[in-house]
Amino acid sequence: MNDMEFFIRTMPKVELHVHLEGSVQPETFLTLAKHHHIALPADSIAGLREWYRIRDFNRFIEIYMAISNCLRTTDDIELLTREFLISQAEQNIVYSEVTFTPYNQFLNCSLDMHEQLNAVNRVRAWGEHELKVRMGVIVDIPRERSANAGIEIARFVVDRFGDGVIALGLGGPEKGNPPSKFQQAFDIVDQAGIPCVIHAGETDGPQSIWNAIVAAKARRIGHGVRCTEDPELVDYLKATQLPLDVCPTSNICLGVFPSLEEHSLPKLIESGLSVTLNSDDPPLFNTTLTDEFLSAGMCFTWDALLIKRLVLNALEVSFLSESEKRSMGQRFVEDFSRLESSRS
Ligand SMILES: [Zn+2]
Repeated sequence: MNDMEFFIRTMPKVELHVHLEGSVQPETFLTLAKHHHIALPADSIAGLREWYRIRDFNRFIEIYMAISNCLRTTDDIELLTREFLISQAEQNIVYSEVTFTPYNQFLNCSLDMHEQLNAVNRVRAWGEHELKVRMGVIVDIPRERSANAGIEIARFVVDRFGDGVIALGLGGPEKGNPPSKFQQAFDIVDQAGIPCVIHAGETDGPQSIWNAIVAAKARRIGHGVRCTEDPELVDYLKATQLPLDVCPTSNICLGVFPSLEEHSLPKLIESGLSVTLNSDDPPLFNTTLTDEFLSAGMCFTWDALLIKRLVLNALEVSFLSESEKRSMGQRFVEDFSRLESSRS
């Protein structure tokens, strides 16, 4: 392991764009399917990995829905959350903002959304105590659902805000489901002073990002990597420093860019935009946040200064309070210096 790899693996990290359901380990997915007598297109780890060779968004949604369909009890939700936090702790990801879509599990098997969140919260408390890692929950609207479903989810978010819930999200198939479809839902959370984070500019173009800004007053954009197709939008994002959660491996798996070399990430950084690095759905894309730093760092020849800046920016644009950001930031800077002096 060279010095930079050691630094990346051990440095403290923050992750802002990672999906709870999309973090299920293949072994756990198979176990849950077997337990609930649900047939999957594969019944082995190798078979699942083959099925995971995702090349388009439709296949991705199919896999995502199959995972959701195997989450049928609060014990399943606890197991999923526990394994997620263990994986974050192993990477020294001390704080995560995790997108969770309880509405899918509610539709599949009437699993109550409050009970699902209670299960997540039990494990969240355990993770803070036992693993010393923290998480906040972004409850998202699956955008293929109706505007009324969006309203129901927005009301749930208002009801549970502060009890683990930190924001309302919007995910799922972007094309044909613009943020404005959920205008009423966004208005409900806006009136309660709750922020929105919106997937946009991934499978759809700049217009989708503009729509997220106007309709949802998005406080962060999930992906946003196609903003480069509209110079005016790039100027706007630079001026406002509206953060983009960038997930390079996910984008390549889903065909947004043909390769990492051709990803817009270096251009976003050079243009002075606020970006963070994320894994999205790590096992589905055979990645982790650590891997994202390693592969992007190598591909774009990043130095430690830029890597540290990306970590600190994730902390800065998170939904933690200003005092939490300051104290965590202080600890990060101390850890960075200790790690750097230990390798010199
Ligand atoms: Zn995502």
